[in-house]
Amino acid sequence: MSALIETEFADLVLHARGKVRDLYSVGEYLLLVATDRISAFDHVLGSGIPGKGKVLTQLSLFWFDFLKDMVPNHLVTADVNQYPAELREYKDELAGRSMLVKRAQMFPVECVVRGYLSGSGWKDYQATGAVCGIPLAAGLSEGDRLPEPIFTPATKSLDGEHDINIGFNEMVTRVGAQSAERLRSLSLAIYSKASAYAEERGLILADTKFEFGTTAEGIILADEVLTPDSSRFWPRDQHRPGQQQPSFDKQFVRDYLESIRWNKQAPAPALPSEVVARTQQKYLEAYRLLTGKSLSI
Ligand code: ATP
Ligand code: MG
Repeated sequence: MSALIETEFADLVLHARGKVRDLYSVGEYLLLVATDRISAFDHVLGSGIPGKGKVLTQLSLFWFDFLKDMVPNHLVTADVNQYPAELREYKDELAGRSMLVKRAQMFPVECVVRGYLSGSGWKDYQATGAVCGIPLAAGLSEGDRLPEPIFTPATKSLDGEHDINIGFNEMVTRVGAQSAERLRSLSLAIYSKASAYAEERGLILADTKFEFGTTAEGIILADEVLTPDSSRFWPRDQHRPGQQQPSFDKQFVRDYLESIRWNKQAPAPALPSEVVARTQQKYLEAYRLLTGKSLSI
């Protein structure tokens, strides 16, 4: 199976291309197609991971269903046989990796929840003793579990690269107090339910990012949810605070990119087939561990 890097559906209206998803306008809905593109260090790499888009889509569907009593979501259907007629001719390419969703007015914030100290949270803590303005006890190590999960919103930078951590007050300025509080409590509740479940399945959900939007019906959970691309999952039995934890899915990619001393500027390099194959296995393993089922791609 080869990687699907980019879709070209000539008859459809392209709405946008993100780093991983191609979005099309389909009547009142959006069609989200998760390609096999992979990004690392803020760049889309020169090789895709075959089937990755299917793993992301199927895992999001699993979580939408798991969370449906807690929060409504944007899913209309992921069954290609129920797609509108204009999508029929693309059915084979769309099957498994796409969703028809309600078009939402997206909040201009990424709703990040952290249960462990890692990534930009760890950097922030080292510099300020706090994460996004939330003070934490002294003496914490990289990878430590936090006394309780914290909500640390971020915004997208204008150049579309690094997200920028913001304080809750800044979020209030951007989305209003009522929405900010609602998004914070929803995000923390989802994290709590999902991380308890992941832990039973042998995975630590170190942190994750949600994107919410509004429709006529109110606030809904949109985008992808609790996938390896939007979350840090760590194998529970290999958790060793005091160092960088191995990334569940992208460790082989990161190790390779470090080994070739790429300067992190475009163009991003391609990956050797060995790295592609091992990374594909990790995505499939994440799906299997979390859902208890294996996915054929
Ligand atoms: P960016 O979106 O800034 O490019 P990204 O590279 O992570 O970031 P992708 O995940 O590839 O983007 O693309 C998904 C895009 O679709 C995101 O911009 C997300 O905000 C948007 N999106 C997801 N769900 C909906 C929805 N229901 N309505 C409108 N936009 C949505
Ligand atoms: Mg995204």
